[in-house]
Amino acid sequence: MNSETAYIGLGSNLGDRKKYLTCAIDMLCNTAGVRVRSRSSLYETKPVGLAEQPDFLNCAVELETELEPYDLLKACMDIEQRLQRKRVIRWGPRTVDLDILLYGDMQIEQPDLTIPHPRMHEREFALLPLSEIAPRRVHPKLKTTIEELYKQILRSDGEISGIVKIEW
Ligand code: ADP
Ligand code: MG
Repeated sequence: MNSETAYIGLGSNLGDRKKYLTCAIDMLCNTAGVRVRSRSSLYETKPVGLAEQPDFLNCAVELETELEPYDLLKACMDIEQRLQRKRVIRWGPRTVDLDILLYGDMQIEQPDLTIPHPRMHEREFALLPLSEIAPRRVHPKLKTTIEELYKQILRSDGEISGIVKIEW
């Protein structure tokens, strides 16, 4: 079976955030058909959207996988559930969130699965960790490297984001 390189963005802003991210990555490592190839640093980031909630820890991982995109989504959602993520409010606090950012050069636009992740190119908390592990990857829809997308939001934002890089 062919394997693909995929990137997952992870975030947590409830409880022991680093432990949730570590557990989620361990669970990815233990998923059949998934091998975690690299892991970014941790980044502490301000919430986007709903502002009145705790700060997030974010990171990104590179996977090599034989899972099809929907099976990878299911594996991610299983991990979220096993780590007791409560879907109370959309964009609200969560123990752990796993988003498929990229899956090879594939483009999918379905209500329940959009790849590349539809908001990754405008979110510093996704682009910064991803640019650490995959700066030269090309976004298949925007035809721009991750490094360049990250520079673009820095230019357009103007203000200092206050993201703090943390070693594991
Ligand atoms: P967000 O990640 O935008 O904060 P949620 O995690 O609550 O929001 O959204 C989860 C839903 O998003 C899932 O039910 C899933 O079907 C859908 N979804 C669409 N595209 C993706 C993707 N690339 N990665 C993960 N979930 C996705
Ligand atoms: Mg999500």
